[in-house]
Amino acid sequence: MVVELIGKEADLIFECMHIVPGRGDCSRIHPHFHYVDVLINGEFDDKRRIIHLYNLKSAIKKICATFEDKILIADYPASVQKIAEEALHYRIEINDKLYIIPKADIFKMEIPSLNIEDLTVYFAGELACALKNREMFDNKIDYLEVTLSEGHGQRGKIGMNLK
Ligand SMILES: [Zn+2]
Repeated sequence: MVVELIGKEADLIFECMHIVPGRGDCSRIHPHFHYVDVLINGEFDDKRRIIHLYNLKSAIKKICATFEDKILIADYPASVQKIAEEALHYRIEINDKLYIIPKADIFKMEIPSLNIEDLTVYFAGELACALKNREMFDNKIDYLEVTLSEGHGQRGKIGMNLK
């Protein structure tokens, strides 16, 4: 059977900012209010649980915390975005503008874009890694689905087999 966590109700939320390559409104630095819904399919364990929900929530919150109040930077090609690393700052050229941002404010991600699709794939991958940590979870879980909302009624969803 499945168990689900509803991000808005379970406080699985984070706020972060990004810049989208291009010329529209999203080409300016702007925030998103994200929330994460998670569905797990698995077998009952000897305590009649599919998963320990407290542990699942804490694993999700740990991933949310890596995004919280950060400016996200993806691995866009150099034709789109140029990044120079300095001691305490990144110099980021994008959309014909130059941003000099403290490293402490940046979450530099090794993903090809900051579109909701790539963010959802990243989030689900991180959570799948946490679920495979058998000190926290047993291996009776066989399927994970992550839905990542970026607000405005827009979300990405991905299902992953864990066996
Ligand atoms: Zn955006």
